[in-house]
Amino acid sequence: MDQSAKLYEESRGLAPGGVSSPVRMFQPNPLFIAKGQGSRVTDVDGEEFIDLCMAYGPLIAGHAHPEVTAAVQEQIVKGTVYGAPSEPELALVRRIASAVPSADMVRLANSGTEATMHAIRTARGYTGRFGVVKMNGGFHGAHDAVLVKAGSGSAEGVPSSKGVPSGATQYTHTVEYNDIQAMSDLLEKDKDIACVIMEPVLGNVGVIPPEEGYLEEVRKVTRENDVVLIFDEVITGFRLGPNCAQGRFGVTPDMTTMGKIIGGGYPAGAFAGRRDIMEMVAPQGPVYVAGTFAGNPVTAAAGLATIDLMARGDNYQTLERRSDRLTSAIRDAMADSGVPGCVNSIGSMFSIYFGPEQVRNATDAERTDREVFGRMFRYMLKHGVYMAPSALEDSFVSIAHTDEDIDTLCEAFSGFMREESR
Ligand SMILES: *Cc1c(COP(=O)(O)O)cnc(C)c1O
Repeated sequence: MDQSAKLYEESRGLAPGGVSSPVRMFQPNPLFIAKGQGSRVTDVDGEEFIDLCMAYGPLIAGHAHPEVTAAVQEQIVKGTVYGAPSEPELALVRRIASAVPSADMVRLANSGTEATMHAIRTARGYTGRFGVVKMNGGFHGAHDAVLVKAGSGSAEGVPSSKGVPSGATQYTHTVEYNDIQAMSDLLEKDKDIACVIMEPVLGNVGVIPPEEGYLEEVRKVTRENDVVLIFDEVITGFRLGPNCAQGRFGVTPDMTTMGKIIGGGYPAGAFAGRRDIMEMVAPQGPVYVAGTFAGNPVTAAAGLATIDLMARGDNYQTLERRSDRLTSAIRDAMADSGVPGCVNSIGSMFSIYFGPEQVRNATDAERTDREVFGRMFRYMLKHGVYMAPSALEDSFVSIAHTDEDIDTLCEAFSGFMREESR
């Protein structure tokens, strides 16, 4: 019995499903990781993989980047949490405020879940309204208000998890991404909407970029209806460039939520926005938000080091050039093999769908053939590549992925497509 299987055997008796977050589970057992270094992870049996999961997004600089590690080491000997303001925290806030167009003011938190929960509360407090609009397939963490089943825009949101009271989701409406008419109709009809919360690029049903002009229209419609527009940039923040997705697309929301990369591999979250909205947050205003570890100096040091090193030289260009080479090769291999499907990508994030020729919303994404994905996942694992085990998760490239890594990845994907076409 290999070591991961043995550890998992114990783990599943002690932790639900044997994991700390559901997506990590796969059959017959998830690999226990012993080490991450650059573009690689090594499991407890000593097997090394090129990592394309990259912890689902935070590791744009790769595992244990020396500059990030040095920044953390410098901080931890001075203490790891104070329950009082600190300079690293201010430095991260300053950095986010200067880089993110919508961020006049910033509040740090510990996770993306917290960030979106707090941002929604703030938008509700600011407008005095309760309605929330999210995208079908949009993911904003695991708190009650956003755990709704996809449904028609007018219907009351129905909980997608046991244990969520219908009262918590009754104000949450769902519309299809890339469908401006659906959003516009809803906002025209329902005058109790506080905010629209959306990932500018959907990233939790695979990668779905906005169609030409869509985000501009969203901005226009929310403004016309006096609704707070929140971009959930937990994935896209500092991944799609030094000014995040909003900088890349030139569309500025009223509020922004962040996480993942801003923690540089440590637990992190933040929400930010226009001054008059953020002034609603306690202790300045009446919307209560708090956290023992919020603004943690270790997280702040790691996050700042990551943001700084990414902003240097042409790191983003290099990253995107390598990612483009990989996704082009996968597209070519798919076309050559005759395996039906498509590859969605933007910047350093991509996903492969088997079946649909085009994926422009979550309904399209759900049509992907999970069995083919499962075969690809296993093939890649056997060939030294670690991907997220779910068909609707993204792959992430980091600056630690070298040109040689990209060559290896291209070969592995082509190999799978050839095998699949036989
Ligand atoms: C990961 C993610 C979250 C949740 O962040 P956690 O740190 O896992 O709580 C929220 N929104 C989006 C878009 C995410 O991808």
